[in-house]
Amino acid sequence: MSTTAPRIEINLTKVQQNARSLVTRLAAQGISVTGVTKATLGSPEIARAFLSGGVLGLGDSRVSNLKRMQQGNIKTRFLLTRSPMLSEVDAVVRYSNSSLNSELSTINRLSGAAQKIGRCHGIILMVEMGDLREGILPLNLPESARAVVALPNVQLEGIGCNLACYGGVQPDAAKMAELSALAEMLEQHTGVDLSVISGGNSANLAWALSNAGCGRINNLRLGESILLGRETLARQAIDGLHTDAFTIVAEVIESKIKPSKPYGHVGQAAFGQPDTPLDRGDICRSILAIGRQDCDSDGLSPPSGVKILGASSDHLIVETDSEPLAIGSEIAFQPNYSALLSAMTSAFVYKVTNAHC
Ligand SMILES: *Cc1c(COP(=O)(O)O)cnc(C)c1O
Repeated sequence: MSTTAPRIEINLTKVQQNARSLVTRLAAQGISVTGVTKATLGSPEIARAFLSGGVLGLGDSRVSNLKRMQQGNIKTRFLLTRSPMLSEVDAVVRYSNSSLNSELSTINRLSGAAQKIGRCHGIILMVEMGDLREGILPLNLPESARAVVALPNVQLEGIGCNLACYGGVQPDAAKMAELSALAEMLEQHTGVDLSVISGGNSANLAWALSNAGCGRINNLRLGESILLGRETLARQAIDGLHTDAFTIVAEVIESKIKPSKPYGHVGQAAFGQPDTPLDRGDICRSILAIGRQDCDSDGLSPPSGVKILGASSDHLIVETDSEPLAIGSEIAFQPNYSALLSAMTSAFVYKVTNAHC
């Protein structure tokens, strides 16, 4: 491993094993996995770990990430998971095989863009099921599906939904039964067989693995659970998965015994109103060279004996129990999804992968 800090150490073997485990368990329920790479800035190495773990294809919210994976020689089916912008339809049909959609005017333009380069672009219509992020209201679904079927160079591949992302609405058996029923209704209505019924994301795992039968749902789009080994409703570790495939490492640049409470007249700090810590006398305070430009410090779990007090743009301030940390020593943190996403997309954080995958 490199000694440059700050860095994120990526264990590709653990990512691959997480993917393999979920792919195998879900296959037993008749569900395929689209690996969602958006937290990894389209890293071709991580994409390769997903694919060697058996995912059916890769999904990302950003066309630039899809492009990076393809330039990194990744060959699979690519899904754009965020509804396309009108301004990017040409790139969407070039760099993805299909996309999740909820606006007919956009699908119209995708059809035109696909026609121009002689391709057929797959459309998965997203259905609003209560979380109130993207989706067509069920009432309007038949008419939308009919419109898609009538367009050239696009193919209605199926329907999908996304829960627990904005409103925190849980993907339970009732919601999934409703999506299954919508699929059946649409097939009758359009006469088209829907090949993909995509039930959701990592928040769907408790439902999918409960052995209660998945109806028509035959696909999930999984990111966080593969990367961090946790389901996302309560962030519980999933049995048999690694929760430590990623580690964020930062270096100590100051270490002193100092007061626990700031002194002087207190106004706003760099990021607004500061907390008012209790006066606990002198404590062991250290500064690590990692800040908000590097990753979301609220999402870092420190090792035992180290407590995070706060962060500014470039500094993470920690307290230690026993003795001050040595200057130049390194501290390793476990990131949550937010810290992972921010570290992977920060230009300041070195990405270091284990060699063998
Ligand atoms: C991010 C995203 C996913 C993956 O979500 P995870 O919680 O990381 O599994 C799936 N579908 C859509 C539409 C998304 O935006």
